[in-house]
Amino acid sequence: MRAMLFERPGSPLRAAEVPEPQAGPGQLALEVLACGVCRTDLHLIDGEVDVPDPPRILGHQIVGRIIDGDPPEGAQPGGLVGVPWLGWTCGECEYCRSGRENLCPRARFTGRDIDGGMASYTVADARYCFALPAAFHPLQAAPLLCAGLIGYRALRFCGEAPRLGLYGFGAAAHILTQLAVWQGRSVFAFTRAGDEAAQAFALELGAVWAGASEQAPPEELDAAIIFAPVGGLVPLALGALAPGGTVVCGGIHMSEIPAFPYELLWHERTLRSVANLTRRDAIEMLELSARIPVRTTVSEYPLERANAALEDLRSGAFTGAAVIVP
Ligand SMILES: [Zn+2]
Ligand SMILES: [Zn+2]
Repeated sequence: MRAMLFERPGSPLRAAEVPEPQAGPGQLALEVLACGVCRTDLHLIDGEVDVPDPPRILGHQIVGRIIDGDPPEGAQPGGLVGVPWLGWTCGECEYCRSGRENLCPRARFTGRDIDGGMASYTVADARYCFALPAAFHPLQAAPLLCAGLIGYRALRFCGEAPRLGLYGFGAAAHILTQLAVWQGRSVFAFTRAGDEAAQAFALELGAVWAGASEQAPPEELDAAIIFAPVGGLVPLALGALAPGGTVVCGGIHMSEIPAFPYELLWHERTLRSVANLTRRDAIEMLELSARIPVRTTVSEYPLERANAALEDLRSGAFTGAAVIVP
């Protein structure tokens, strides 16, 4: 089959012919119909997040058609499933046994520890494959599987927050805005200064305000989620919070957070990160997305142009999400 291989940090992915993987016990073999591109893929390629055992097929927002193995609950043989970043957990540790499988120390991640979706076919643990509502086209569904799921987990940590700030208006924020507006929240979108396309896109999706990250929003925020991997946004976001508010860092990697005065954290403000996802997050989020329904904005790239998709993500060349179609 055709695949795009990660070989070492700093090198582009390489197009290759590799053997088609076969499903083992408890696994599904999938024909990949679409695979979303995520900022985490850039962190892997740049060596900011380690890939333990290269070469590796990246890609962790997979929409696949079941070609072998027992379908998970809600899916039919030949039906569509989604495969997320969290690809395997031990099921035995204190985290797995207390509903926090996202923190399992032995967790394995799709497209990092396990071959992912930048290929014609893939194999995935059936426990971490989710039936996809028929309402979704494969291209549309792909960005829900990381941008959407991790975004949803970050939103859970914002509690009831009626005024929500989103820093970095990419794939995750464009999905989350739709969820938050549907929940009756006011969304304030923060982008790079001068990124008028992203600001216009945010307003189109229902944000009440859009501006540069350095700007003060017109009202204090009850919570903010930072999707851009920029540590300097942390004090900015804390500074925009009302007392008791929360800042959630939504990425797997962030540049160093600069020192800031305690005053920014005082009055019971909270700063926290969000790591990975649980199966509960996935089931809830996919169900909610179908109900709203969430409409993703995607740019399509053929498999061989995966490097172009990654560079376009890096430079902010598109609004919404990039999706690879093998
Ligand atoms: Zn991701
Ligand atoms: Zn575990």
